[in-house]
This record gives sequence, C-alpha cells and structure tokens, in this order.
Amino acid sequence: MVWYRPRFGGDPRLIPMLDLSLQTARLLPEIEKTLHEICTGGSFILGRHGRALEAEIAALSGASFGLGVASGTDALHLVLRALDIGPGDEVITSPFTFIATAEAISYCGATPVFVDIDPETFNIDPAQIEARITGRTRAILPVHLFGQAADMDPILEIGRRRGLHVIEDSAQAIGTLYKDRPVGSLGVAGCLSFYPTKNLGAFGDGGMVVTSDEGLRDRVAALRVHGQTRRYYHDEVGYCSRLDEMQAAVLRIKLPHLEGWNRRRAQIAQRYNALFSDLPLATPARAAYSTHTYHQYTVRSVHRERFVAGLGEQKVGVGIYYPVPLHLQNAYAALGYRPGDLPAAEQAAAEVFSLPMFPELSDAQIEGVARAMRAAAPVAWV
Ligand SMILES: *Cc1c(COP(=O)(O)O)cnc(C)c1O
Repeated sequence: MVWYRPRFGGDPRLIPMLDLSLQTARLLPEIEKTLHEICTGGSFILGRHGRALEAEIAALSGASFGLGVASGTDALHLVLRALDIGPGDEVITSPFTFIATAEAISYCGATPVFVDIDPETFNIDPAQIEARITGRTRAILPVHLFGQAADMDPILEIGRRRGLHVIEDSAQAIGTLYKDRPVGSLGVAGCLSFYPTKNLGAFGDGGMVVTSDEGLRDRVAALRVHGQTRRYYHDEVGYCSRLDEMQAAVLRIKLPHLEGWNRRRAQIAQRYNALFSDLPLATPARAAYSTHTYHQYTVRSVHRERFVAGLGEQKVGVGIYYPVPLHLQNAYAALGYRPGDLPAAEQAAAEVFSLPMFPELSDAQIEGVARAMRAAAPVAWV
C-alpha cells in the first residue's frame, strides 16, 4: 500500500512510501511567487519557463535539445511516431516495467516484443535481444528501471549493427549516469517523466523528449502541436501534447535540488543495505556501469508476502513494482505469451517489493523501516 501523508498532520508513526509534502513546503514560497507571475502574465503553454526548462533538462541529459510534452507516455509515443514506427513494426522492450513503455508502442500500431531481464539489475538482458530480432524489428526500447541504467553499450552495438533505433525510457532515471554519460544521451532519444512521484516531479503530468538529432527534434516539435510546422499549416495529423508553464516553472524551481536529492536517496539506500544485511532478502544489485538514483529501493525475497503483510500492519509503506510482467497482463493477452516464457521477469514480479524512499525520509524513519522489516521477517531471522 502507498500512503501519502496529508500535507499537515497525519499519524506521526506512519512511515509513507513517499511524502511529497515536505519537499513542497520548503519550496512553496518561491513556487507561489512564480505561479502568481504566470497567472497574471498570461503565457500558459510553451512559454519562457518551458523553453528554459527544455534547455536545462537537455544539458543535464547531455543532449542538444529538449521538448516538453504532456507526459512521459507521450514522450515515448511521439518519439516512436517521429521515427515512423507504425503498423506491422516490432519494437523490442522489457517486460518488467510500467505499462506505459509498451503502450507507447501499441499506440503506434506496432507490436511490443518482450525480451527477458537480467535478474540482478531488473533491466533488459542485452544477450537475449538478438534472438528476438525479425525482419519487422525497427527499434529497441530499453528502460532504466528504478534509477539504474540498462547496459547500453551492447544494446547500442546491436542497434548499429542491425540498423535499429535505440530509444531510452529514462522516466525513472533522471540524473543517472551510464559509464559517466547521462542517460538520455545514449540512444537517439531519451524519454523523461515528471509525474509527481518521479525523482523530479511536477504538480501534475509532464514529460520531455531529449535528443541531439535535429530531424527528430523538428518532427517531435511538430507532432506535439497538431503536426504544425508554421502556424495553422499542418504537414501531418499530430497531437496536442505540451508541457504547460506552471509545470515547467515548478520543475525549474525543483531542478537545482535534484542532485542533492538523488545523493540523499543513495545514502538512504546504503543505510538500508547495511540494516538489512542479515535478513532473508537481496538488496538492490549494483551494476558497475551505472550510477543509481534510487527512484525505487527494491529488494527481492521469497518471503515477500510475509514482509509486505508485516510492514502493512506496522503502517510502513510498501509497494510492489511490478506484480505482473507486461507479457502476462490481460491487456497483452492477444500477443500469446504464456507463463514461463520470460522466467526472470516472472520471478522478479513474484519476489520484489519496494520500501519508503524519498530524500526527506529521516534517519529515525529509516531505523523505523528496519525495525518493521525485522519484526516482519520469518521467525528464524528475528
Ligand atoms: C512513469 C513512467 C512512464 C510514464 O510516464 P508518465 O509521465 O506517467 O506518462 C513510462 N515509463 C516508465 C518506466 C515510468 O516509470
């Protein structure tokens, strides 16, 4: 269960998965002032703040251009559309991700092809990609899950050799580095989400495409405003998908804090790792090629049901990301996958659970989570 503590008050013993109120409270005076200026200024969509944020996020991502869109899902969808991926095409992706990754492929009329994950990192296993490439494959869409990058070099190498686009789903990994390079700068484009619970979250939906490909930039820029290249001249049927000024302004106020917030997340993760070292669970595996920005702190255990029930009883937040891999979701039943087809993803879905993780989590709360974990552990471990 995910608890969001009400802005003021609430049960002080409760340790939520995520508490956005503390971050918001600290920045509220500045946010209120800026929102007031926007309200009285009259520029609400793709204005000064939007353009500035695009430049700032592009720089952070090591890309030349940023394009604000309405959500992370739209960022993925518009990039796939801009690459002319459509009916009959296949896009290879991970089955162990939020469904938006695959939905964006489906929106284009293309087919997601799921390749199993590396059980250690939860990210797509590059070694299994080539076997699933067909004459219809057009792109590979790796996800940097929970804040740790997929192993991009072998994926990029396959992409180059087989003539496939590589698009990064960076929705959970803003600020993550793959071998010292920011995610989003590795493939032809990176897709970011500013959904409120993400490491950089807006006060509503929002997303961004980052790319250094000018042609792709121009195409996404047109697609997000109804396929328009000149005002009221439409070269193709596009979409209505922009980032508004209020969201952009909030994100710009938060952005200077992101690095510090991500550092604190890593510190919390280290503390958790130490506190859980004697419990029957696997703490997050760390890949040498990536930093980790801990969008989620996700452990795995065959005793998951016991831990989850125990944490719930003790009012400690716990989430399961994700209980069903995409190839076994009802929404994708028509693709014909069967249990056992992608065993690493299926086992992860059966064993993972995520613990409270946000920069404002106090040391006392970290200890509280550890106490609750110990109390929830199978008897032999208490
Ligand atoms: C959140 C998320 C998305 C979608 O972002 P929205 O802004 O919610 O549309 C896509 N992929 C992954 C991996 C995500 O976590």
